[in-house]
Amino acid sequence: MEEILKVNNLSKRFDEIVVLDNLSLSVKKGEVVVIVGPSGCGKSTFLRCLNGLEDIEEGEVLLGEEKVNPNKKNLSKTREKIGMVFQSYDLFPHKTILQNITLAPIKVKKRNKAEVTEEALKLLDRVGLLSKKDNYPRQLSGGQKQRVAIVRALIMHPEVLLLDEITAALDPEMVREVLDVVLSLAKEGRTMLIVTHEMAFAKAVADRVIFLENGKIVEEGSPAEFFDHPKTDRLKRFLETFSYEK
Ligand code: ADP
Ligand code: MG
Repeated sequence: MEEILKVNNLSKRFDEIVVLDNLSLSVKKGEVVVIVGPSGCGKSTFLRCLNGLEDIEEGEVLLGEEKVNPNKKNLSKTREKIGMVFQSYDLFPHKTILQNITLAPIKVKKRNKAEVTEEALKLLDRVGLLSKKDNYPRQLSGGQKQRVAIVRALIMHPEVLLLDEITAALDPEMVREVLDVVLSLAKEGRTMLIVTHEMAFAKAVADRVIFLENGKIVEEGSPAEFFDHPKTDRLKRFLETFSYEK
């Protein structure tokens, strides 16, 4: 399959701290890559570098043939093609759910309002939230707001979707409804890079799992290899922190 996203020898420092250390990764169209690793290992920084939210010191990120950095002029066009959803949903509090979704495509992409609205309603229906279109964010649960945030990313027609711990702030009963949406996106062949601590979900959704530590890919493999037959002691120890024995 065709390569869509390519990271070549990416390094990123914050002052003297090396957060990403000569990291390379290639993602194919339709592939779902899950990234796991201990807190502070650089997962969020990595995703932020991929859509140009961080400057990078060395290396390059390519979306197809286009360089995501460092040419700032091209950045916004390229960034539009890489959607991102964060742990905090950041919806505009004084706009309705429908307005929150249609704002960027109308204002940034200059698309036709009626057409965008129709698409927004379809997407809302798909995530089970059509009835909330005229509500305000405060009237929605965390899980519902996160599903709106996913719709807001999808309506920009991204070629790649980056999800950074999108269920980390949710109550357990809401995690499922959000992850089910992500699973359905994976089934329809969306290219995604997902940072998550939900290991059962990672196993179900991933084509490939990557373990990041100290700015490097320590181990990667298919979900079956990665979770059931980890090779490095470091990954074994990391996975043990997710299981309990009496
Ligand atoms: P993760 O998402 O894996 O928990 P992050 O990518 O958020 O890790 O952070 C990686 C490291 O970079 C941490 O040591 C963090 O403190 C540091 N870091 C992240 N963002 C900044 C920043 N804007 N300025 C300085 N240090 C930062
Ligand atoms: Mg993070």
